[in-house]
Amino acid sequence: MSRVVVTGGAGFLGSHLCETYVAAGHEVVCLDNFLTGTPENVAHIGPSDRFRLVRTDVTDYVHVGGPVDLVLHFASPASPIDYLNLPIETLKVGSVGTFHALGLARHKGARFVLASTSEVYGDPQVHPQPETYWGHVNPVGPRGVYDEAKRFAEAVSLAYRQTLGVDTAIARIFNTFGPRMRPNDGRAIPNFIRQALRGEPVTVAGDGSQTRSVCYVDDLIAGVVALAGSSEPGPMNLGNPHELAVLDLARWVIELCDSPSEVVFVPRPVDDPSVRQPDTTRAAERLGWHPAIPVEEGLRRTIDWFRTHPELV
Ligand code: NAD
Ligand code: UDP
Repeated sequence: MSRVVVTGGAGFLGSHLCETYVAAGHEVVCLDNFLTGTPENVAHIGPSDRFRLVRTDVTDYVHVGGPVDLVLHFASPASPIDYLNLPIETLKVGSVGTFHALGLARHKGARFVLASTSEVYGDPQVHPQPETYWGHVNPVGPRGVYDEAKRFAEAVSLAYRQTLGVDTAIARIFNTFGPRMRPNDGRAIPNFIRQALRGEPVTVAGDGSQTRSVCYVDDLIAGVVALAGSSEPGPMNLGNPHELAVLDLARWVIELCDSPSEVVFVPRPVDDPSVRQPDTTRAAERLGWHPAIPVEEGLRRTIDWFRTHPELV
């Protein structure tokens, strides 16, 4: 058994990580300030002597008593609406918060995994994106607060590895979806599902020809667990290479929801990336990891979850 600290553990991905590690017999300490997450996301895990939720802002200070084997640093607003509303918090958690999470790992001699993002590639000019691509990011555009915070977090993680010998890893996570996303968090899939289930117009940005490659949460969590359990430093792309146009994604969700909704076209956000697709060769070769759940199956499971939580929709 090992002892795992998950920052941002009450969020969408963090809650799945907490659940997975507790189910595998480990002890989990979940640190979260509930900025964009909620204790309800982990309420089903406890009470358990192997799970503890501690309200903590990781930009203040991080203290965890006792031994720690693994720190998973997932705290950060992640949806464009959230980080556009919370620009300073996003920059702080990616910078100061990352120093603190790394400091915890250093002090405890723990492995450290940073939740970085495909956004480090910005609006990419190389397609699909391998880890060797440096990216195409506008630091002073609206998304800069998130993209640059994550790029900084990657640089700090590497500095702690090279200078202080901390066993760090960088996961570059591509668009992931599944149960426990907030229906109103503004990201495409929860938005489309909420709109389709309500029979409201489904809002597609621009002409919907921009692409995303979407990964079901269980696959992503398996990738993070594999990376955490390895000695790979990364960066490691984790995502499902299944690429589709946003308009096709909207139509697919409408069909799977058996909804009368129509598509409406709304203005495209500034600096919205035109294409995005992970090159997952490295994760396949070094971790033996491949996403296994077809996107349609993932969408069906997510829609079922939203249907069984009508109070959220
Ligand atoms: P989320 O908003 O659901 O979860 C983030 C969690 O971090 C929330 O519970 C929030 O309350 C917490 N948090 C924020 N600031 C904090 C602070 N200062 N102290 C303590 N807790 C804090 O988002 P998510 O989709 O679960 O994303 C989790 C991580 O994965 C983020 O770092 C995000 O950048 C990264 N990521 C997610 C995706 C995706 O598709 N979901 C893609 C790429 C990267
Ligand atoms: N999008 C959309 N309608 C919505 C929400 C998002 O067309 O209601 C588009 C958005 O402009 C982007 C894509 O869907 O092109 C994915 O957006 P999301 O916010 O999910 O993630 P991103 O990859 O941009 O971080």
